Amino acid sequence: MLQNDGGDALVHADDSAALSRRGLLIETVATSVADVLNAKSATTVLPEVLTRVARVVRIDRLLVVESDRSAGARSSLFFTWAAAASGLPDAAAEQSRGADELSALQDWLAPLASGQPVVTARRTAPAAVREHLQSMDVVTSLMVPVMVDGRPWGRIVLEDCTSEHDWVSDDIKVMTTLAETIGAAITRERFSAQVQQRERLLHAVNQSTTEIATAKDLHAAVKHALRITATAIGADRVLVLEVHRSVASGRETHLLRNFWHARNVPLGLQQIVANTSAEPRPDVLAWLAPLRDGKAVSGSRSTAQNGSREVFETFNSLSVLLVPIMVNARYWGHLSIESCSQERDWNSAEVDALRTLADLIGTLITQQRHREEIATANTIIQSSPTILYRLNGDAALPMTYISQNIGQLGHNPVELLADPRCYRQMIHPDDRAGLQAAMESLLQPDAKPGVIELRMLNKSGGVRWFENRFRPVRDESGQVEIEGILTDITERKHSEERIALLARTDTLTGAANRLIFGDRLRQSFAAAQRGAHPFAVLYLDLDRFKEVNDTLGHHAGDLLLQQVAQRLKATTRKIDVVARLGGDEFAIIQSEVSDSSAAGRLGEKLIEIVSAPYVIDGNELRIGTSIGIALWDRETPEPDSLLAQADQALYRAKHSGRGQYRFFSEEIDHETREHLALAEDLRAALGRDELEICYQPQVELVSGRIMGMEALLRWHHPTRGLLLPEDFLPIAEKFGIMQQLGRWTLDGACKQMSLWRQQQMSVPVVAVNVSLAQIKMGTEFVRDVNESLERWRLQPSDLELDVTEHVLARTTLSQSDVLVELRRLGVGIAIDNFGAKYSTLDYLRTYHVSRLKIARGMVAAADAQAGGSAMIRAILSLAAELGLDVVAEGVETENQRDLLVAASARAQGQGFYYSHPVTAHESMQMLRAGVVTPEKSGGPP
Ligand code: C2E
Repeated sequence: MLQNDGGDALVHADDSAALSRRGLLIETVATSVADVLNAKSATTVLPEVLTRVARVVRIDRLLVVESDRSAGARSSLFFTWAAAASGLPDAAAEQSRGADELSALQDWLAPLASGQPVVTARRTAPAAVREHLQSMDVVTSLMVPVMVDGRPWGRIVLEDCTSEHDWVSDDIKVMTTLAETIGAAITRERFSAQVQQRERLLHAVNQSTTEIATAKDLHAAVKHALRITATAIGADRVLVLEVHRSVASGRETHLLRNFWHARNVPLGLQQIVANTSAEPRPDVLAWLAPLRDGKAVSGSRSTAQNGSREVFETFNSLSVLLVPIMVNARYWGHLSIESCSQERDWNSAEVDALRTLADLIGTLITQQRHREEIATANTIIQSSPTILYRLNGDAALPMTYISQNIGQLGHNPVELLADPRCYRQMIHPDDRAGLQAAMESLLQPDAKPGVIELRMLNKSGGVRWFENRFRPVRDESGQVEIEGILTDITERKHSEERIALLARTDTLTGAANRLIFGDRLRQSFAAAQRGAHPFAVLYLDLDRFKEVNDTLGHHAGDLLLQQVAQRLKATTRKIDVVARLGGDEFAIIQSEVSDSSAAGRLGEKLIEIVSAPYVIDGNELRIGTSIGIALWDRETPEPDSLLAQADQALYRAKHSGRGQYRFFSEEIDHETREHLALAEDLRAALGRDELEICYQPQVELVSGRIMGMEALLRWHHPTRGLLLPEDFLPIAEKFGIMQQLGRWTLDGACKQMSLWRQQQMSVPVVAVNVSLAQIKMGTEFVRDVNESLERWRLQPSDLELDVTEHVLARTTLSQSDVLVELRRLGVGIAIDNFGAKYSTLDYLRTYHVSRLKIARGMVAAADAQAGGSAMIRAILSLAAELGLDVVAEGVETENQRDLLVAASARAQGQGFYYSHPVTAHESMQMLRAGVVTPEKSGGPP
């Protein structure tokens, strides 16, 4: 027992040991989580991490069992660890179970599938489980599920073989966190493997397209394309089958046109022939029916029935994907892609790539048909998809010949030749200059044949792509003509565009994919390093997405992901990048981020927008999101580290309660949150009567007579107490509240001036500070000023607007017109803080200012620094010459006052020496006296 000085029991020694063990466990798991998150390949660090955890938990055995295998396969051990004294479980003990026993064991493991841990003590377990544990030598077991991509993948099993383990809920939670992290890491690895596979696939299709388009031997080129595509998707056999329907019998036969098969898998020619001659069973016909509508069909042996199952058995294949080949928009046949070594699904990227290949083969067949038709009909020119032309080589390049088949585009060859220069109208406007340049270059003496691609317009304005091959032809006299052949390449162009699109986008959501995200991240990073705008990376993860998948199915999950992506795109700007990185993870590059609050605001907006209800298949459902944010700064070593930082911030966001955003830097996180909260309070403050205007007198220094009152804003914050302008005006500026606040102050000060006047108090002028945001309002600000003056029956000269040098320096020429206009109306303009920094005498001329307010720092320097008073004297004499009044700000001492008076008998001043800013109520008393007697004390109140 531990005791304190007074002898009271503090903590039982056993409790204390347990506590310190738990502390150690939390620490070990936290380090492990970080190791897994930071590892390049999480699976490689798992053995070390799990061994470390197993030692700290003090169990006898730790197993990771992977159960996510294809149908019919057994669970497999992914990782095993055993304390020296305990052996590993006997694999043989897993065999030969009766149906009852199996069902009891399935019930026992059932909670894992829905993400719940299972704790079991052999002593109290149901009979079948007890026997199972006995056979494995287990006394207590804790199983925590590992979910990958939102689906059960396997479990971590922690076993005790000698004594019972007391699994308290905190320890179970810690182990669940570890399992979640492992699941997330495996998800990520799987996804990146998928991305690599997709890249290989796109490369294969791309290569096939080029080879087929340029091949001399088409059959060989298609065969090669089948080989590289099949290898990229890991298929064992690919057949190109033409489906032929006999007119007499109506029966369909499949004719093998091309093929590829892996070395260890036979082609199965006999089976193909046998299958062709047999009458297909009705269920097989029904299964194949969607092909006729251009839809792909797939299946696996374990789920196939009757006739379809027989087909799988005949061909000895386990899974098949059939992709239709359409010729002239009609079903011609299909690509049959088979897997013979394992059952598998075909993901959307694979189906898309194979579709592109099938489209390409379809186009080739169309072209071949054309050629055949041409040969048979002997109308080579008229029916050919290639158009011939001739241009005369003089400067105007008139057309002298065009083949009849230009009629395919709806143009009349006779009309074209009647107006030999009008052929230019058939060329797409964007390609006309390129064509002209290419043709003109052919007129040069040493010109060579050339080729360009261009778009041509048909009669109704539709666009088709053509390859234009041309060459100069010279006769003996040196006269030049241009001969050209135009070949329609529209289909090939479309295939290329589709491939390019596939390479850029996530096929499910249409958002950018990880590859493009990486590219854009690197571009933004390089641009920022070169001095362009900073940017932020936001990493989003949907909260409880798995539940949607589990309860409504993967189809609903997919629809939800599509809608989320649409919302993210609608909430961000065109210059931002929205990408899906995998599963339910999205990332955004927010461009041109001036400060952290812009990223914080986007984070808030995204959380709100993603959390709004969705309607999926008629069900209304809600989902949340957590966001991690990383901001680029000069210290960021490389683009990838930003994503890693955002990921770590996301981890913190999720663990601080989901539905939140967190910045990678805790300092920025804190500051941004503070600012956002204050901005929200400030918006509400006006309505809650928390703002107040105080007034500080401006006096003639010789006599103490009040020459004006300056309005100064105060905020009585309900929890933070009294806040001064410096605490909240920058926030108001940043969050767009300044206009509203400025309007309120202006009107309040005018109202107060009118009250003073009603009470016969003589105040020559009320001074109101003006912000940059108000000046930017332009004529709207002028209208505000006029309205307030009219509302409170004041003259323009009763009001003075104080603009700091700092604001003037940030005002553009057109914005500053506002001040000129106000001055023209008779409103006073004072340059505030004069001498603090910029001191441009030009302002005095431009705005015809009425007063200069000498900065507090200059006044303080007047009696503290050598030469300080000379500066003041210089300003005062300059102002006298220009006929301007001068108010010295921050007069705190008698000495300062005397110095100013000595410099100019007309000088005015404002400062604690005379009075601190006072409430409207207190101002009445002061004004009744008309003169202010110094407070003497100076300094803060
Ligand atoms: P400012 O226009 O130069 O106002 C004078 C500031 O100096 C006031 O601070 C006042 O309390 C302080 N002050 C006056 N005499 C003395 C003195 O003898 N010693 C010292 N140390 N300070 C003195 P406050 O009220 O905190 O305002 C600070 C600034 O915030 C103002 O400087 C002005 O630029 C801005 N501000 C205040 N109210 C408003 C407003 O309604 N709108 C806008 N746009 N800005 C405002």
